[in-house]
Amino acid sequence: MALIIRSSPIHAAGCYTTTRIRKGARVIEYTGHRLSKAEGNRVYDKAAVTYLFGLGDGSTVIDGHSMAMFINHSCRPNCETEEIDGRVWIRAIRNIAAGEEITYDYCLYDGSQDEEAVCNCGAEKCRGTMYSRAEMKSRAAQKKPAAPRGSRNGGHRNLRNTKPPEMKSPK
Ligand SMILES: [Zn+2]
Repeated sequence: MALIIRSSPIHAAGCYTTTRIRKGARVIEYTGHRLSKAEGNRVYDKAAVTYLFGLGDGSTVIDGHSMAMFINHSCRPNCETEEIDGRVWIRAIRNIAAGEEITYDYCLYDGSQDEEAVCNCGAEKCRGTMYSRAEMKSRAAQKKPAAPRGSRNGGHRNLRNTKPPEMKSPK
């Protein structure tokens, strides 16, 4: 598999494939240091950008440190993430042509209320946010009175780049 990083219309830099990828293939592993979720929160408390990927156990995060951390979110992605024995893989959910940008649905959760995680993926059915649907619901339910929009630069990857809790339980 030949992946390259270059600028992306979705956000900043993205990860592209220079060769065709077959549906079902593992594209790349999401590697990096492993931290406890609490450590991750402490270390990145003030950070505008994080590349943390939460594992299904709910207590471990991977602090992204490979090409996989450049993969952008899309509401209509060509890949999904898959956790096998504590390792996270980006897997193709359709055939991907050479030259395409690799994307998966971030399904963010655990963001603070004043962070919006606006999505610019450009998909026809873009849901407008990188939060998971479950997270959108719970955020709507606990909506606080409009917080002042500060200088905090909202947008991509301000949040925990993690798997949605609802994916943990087999359907
Ligand atoms: Zn979108």
